[in-house]
Amino acid sequence: MNLIFLGPPGAGKGTQAKNICNDYGVVQLSTGDILRANKKEGTPLGKTAQEYMDRGDLVPDDLIIKMIREEMKKPSCSNGCLLDGFPRTVVQARALEILLGEMGKKLDSVLVLDVPDEELVRRLSARLTCKSCGRSYNNIFNPPKVEGVCDDDGAELYQREDDSEKSIRNRLEIYKKMTSPLIDFYSNQDLCDEISGSGQINEIYSGIKNLLDKY
Ligand code: ADP
Ligand code: ADP
Repeated sequence: MNLIFLGPPGAGKGTQAKNICNDYGVVQLSTGDILRANKKEGTPLGKTAQEYMDRGDLVPDDLIIKMIREEMKKPSCSNGCLLDGFPRTVVQARALEILLGEMGKKLDSVLVLDVPDEELVRRLSARLTCKSCGRSYNNIFNPPKVEGVCDDDGAELYQREDDSEKSIRNRLEIYKKMTSPLIDFYSNQDLCDEISGSGQINEIYSGIKNLLDKY
């Protein structure tokens, strides 16, 4: 199964992706997580990406496409992958088509999570992220069992630098301009499954499961 998770920053893609990967045996490929790991390790890619990420701008397409090519060819992706945060532009979507074609694979579904802007700002302003595994928590809506540490691995939680109000607003604008056209792009191929991302996390996941059980 090869899936794309599409939706604005804060829609809950990362949160739901963890559940899907546990239940369906696919690997989550989050371009944001991979870039943050590169940033932390100080790789050339991480250093170049840093300024774009901190402002909330998109990292250039050529860098992202090269990175995802390497990731998707790893044996861990052979059972399928859940692309979280990629593609974010039509150029990236076309590159993905070529890559899947080369690998003899196809897309099964594009899950589109929809959440109103003001809810996204509220969520992202209170988001906490695990330093080790990248799992998302929320001070208000989804707190960890023990304050400040990840339920899964006990690592410290932190607030991402780009979860400031200015960067959040910029990312929402960029999503509308650059990424939301992908909904039409994939609807034209009859691949989109739209889901409301508002409501309780487990209820949203039940809706996603109902959809995925078809595939
Ligand atoms: P969010 O969870 O808020 O949607 P991500 O973790 O997916 O954010 O991405 C964080 C940042 O990493 C983005 O604001 C952007 O700078 C960069 N990034 C991630 N994925 C891509 C991509 N596919 N194309 C360009 N930039 C990306
Ligand atoms: P994305 O990967 O789409 O940027 P995340 O999964 O990181 O989004 O979720 C963004 C923030 O919203 C996190 O703090 C997360 O705990 C919280 N969140 C996720 N789903 C919900 C929900 N259904 N209701 C309230 N908060 C949520």
